[in-house]
Amino acid sequence: MSNLFYQAHGRKPVLDQARGVYMWDQEGKRYLDGSSGAMVCNIGHSNENVLTSMRRQMEKSTFGYRLHFETEVSEQLAAKLTDLMPDGLNKVFFVSGGSEAVETGLKLARQHAVSTGQSSRWKVISRTPSYHGCSLGALAVTGYRPLNEPFVPMMQEMPKIPAPRAYLDGLDAEDPDTGHFYADMLETKIQTEGPDSVLAFIVEPIGGASTGALVPPRGYMERIREICDRYGILLIMDEVMTGAGRTGKFLGSGHWTAQPDIVVMSKGLGAGYMPLGAVIAKQQLVESVLDAGGFAHGFTYAGNPLACAAGLAVINEIEVQGLCDNTTVMGDRLLARLSGLMQKHELIGDVRGKGLLTAFEFMADRESKAPLPTHLNAHQRFVDLAYARGLIVYSRRTRDGTEGDHILVCPPLIINDQHIDEIMDCMDASMV
Ligand code: PMP
Repeated sequence: MSNLFYQAHGRKPVLDQARGVYMWDQEGKRYLDGSSGAMVCNIGHSNENVLTSMRRQMEKSTFGYRLHFETEVSEQLAAKLTDLMPDGLNKVFFVSGGSEAVETGLKLARQHAVSTGQSSRWKVISRTPSYHGCSLGALAVTGYRPLNEPFVPMMQEMPKIPAPRAYLDGLDAEDPDTGHFYADMLETKIQTEGPDSVLAFIVEPIGGASTGALVPPRGYMERIREICDRYGILLIMDEVMTGAGRTGKFLGSGHWTAQPDIVVMSKGLGAGYMPLGAVIAKQQLVESVLDAGGFAHGFTYAGNPLACAAGLAVINEIEVQGLCDNTTVMGDRLLARLSGLMQKHELIGDVRGKGLLTAFEFMADRESKAPLPTHLNAHQRFVDLAYARGLIVYSRRTRDGTEGDHILVCPPLIINDQHIDEIMDCMDASMV
C-alpha cells in the first residue's frame, strides 16, 4: 500500500535509472521515453554536462533567498534567456514550474494595468480546449472542463473562445481566411466582454496536452496580435510545453512574426533536472510595475541557484548539440512516419504537430470526424499496450476534455533514426 495518492491509473513499476532516451524499472525492463516525461526531458536523461554543472553549483551553494542575495548563476541564466527572446523581452522572473509561471504572468499583467491607470482591466481571455496549469489562477484560464469545473466556486472562470480546430470544422488550415475566421472570435469576445475590462489573451502557440499538438491555421497568430494591439490587450504566450526547443525553435511562437508581451516557460527549461520556470516580459511593462511600488508576488524557491545552474547547462546543451535543428529534421521524419501509420490503420483520423511535438487522434470515422465511444477509453488502452511493450507515450481526451482520444508522441530532442524506428514499430504493434 502506497502512502502517495497521485497514482491516477493503477500502480506503476518503480523507476530505477534513466539515461538518454531510455528509462529502466527495478525489474530491469527498459522503456523508450517517447513523451520526455511529460514533455519535460528535452535533452534526455542524465546528461553528464548538466550533472557536472549542478555538482559544481552544489559545492558552492544550493539556496540563497532572492531577497537576501543576488546569485551569479541566476543573472547568467536571465541574460542567456533574454538573448533567445524576441526584441524587447528582457526582464525575467524565475519560478519553479509551469503553473507558477502562468500565475506570475497573469499577476504581472494585472499589476501593469493597475500601475498604468487601467484598473478596470482584469479579464484574461483564453481558449477551449487549453491547459495552463492547476493552481487556481492558471486553472481559471484553462479550458478543460473536467479539470476546472469542480473548482468554479473557488475561482472566477475566465472568458474563453474556441481554439482553432480546422480539421474538425472541415476548413483548410493553409488558407489565411481560416486563421482570420478563428482569430476574429477574439475580437467578438472582447466586444461582448467590454474592451475596457479585458486585460490579456493567453495562448499556447501550438496546443499541447489540450488539443494534442495542434498547429494554428495560417494567419491566426498575426491576426491575434493585431487584435490585441487594437484593443490595448497584452498577449501572453504560454510556452511551458512548446519552449526550450520542443518545436524546432527555441520558442514555439518563433514560427510566426507575431510577438508576445509576456512569455511563460517551464518544463524543458529545467528539463527534468530541476523544477524551473521563467516569465520573460517587456521592459516597459515590468518597469511600470516596479515604479508603482513593486511586484506583489514571489515564490520562496524562485531563482534558486541550483535550478538556475541546471537551466543554464540545459540551454547550453540545446545550443552545443544543435538540438533545434535535430528536432526539425527528426520531427519531419516522425510526422511522415505517423502519416504512414495513419494510412495503415483506419482508426487514426488525424496526424499533426511541429518539431517533436507530434500527435495522432483516434476517430470512429474519418469522414464525419466522429470520436470513438468514450467508454472504450481508447487513448488509455493504447498507452497501456505501448507501455507493456516498453514505449512511453502521453494521451488525453481531445475535445474539451470529455471525448476524443489523442496520443502525443514527444521524445527527447536528442533522438535519432533508430529511435524513431523503435517508436514506430512499437506503436504499430500496439494498434489493436
Ligand atoms: N501550461 C502548459 C501549456 C502546460 O502544458 C502545462 C503542463 N502540462 C502547464 C502550463 C502547467 O505546468 P506545471 O505542470 O509545471 O505546473
